[in-house]
Amino acid sequence: MSTTIFDKIIAKEIPAEIVYEDELSLAFKDINPQAPVHLLIIPKRRIATINDIEEDDRELVGHLYIVAARLAQQFGFAKDGYRVVMNCNEDGGQSVYHIHLHLLAGVTMGWPPF
Ligand code: 5GP
Repeated sequence: MSTTIFDKIIAKEIPAEIVYEDELSLAFKDINPQAPVHLLIIPKRRIATINDIEEDDRELVGHLYIVAARLAQQFGFAKDGYRVVMNCNEDGGQSVYHIHLHLLAGVTMGWPPF
């Protein structure tokens, strides 16, 4: 699979509730939220899974976490806490093969997640 629905969101070909954008990344509300706040943070350049991350992607992947932390501050849940998750392949629960951080907040979460 060479493209996903996220490429259409990046290209603004389909609507999404975008909350942040820069030259490297885009963040938007998940269409099927699993928490009161559920944002997705994606790189504009597609990497299919965590397994496909290369050394050269170090800065890009790190950037996604910096965006997550900034959004947590901006939305006001940084102090209370939140969860950042990246799923990988079938057992990890990945359904869109374009890496993305899930940023979940607004509720006290449990652990483990199964
Ligand atoms: P994954 O299962 O790959 O870790 O997460 C994919 C996420 O993308 C899911 O939480 C799903 O709800 C979300 N998603 C799938 N299609 C769309 C879409 O068209 N728009 C938005 N905003 N989210 C989507």
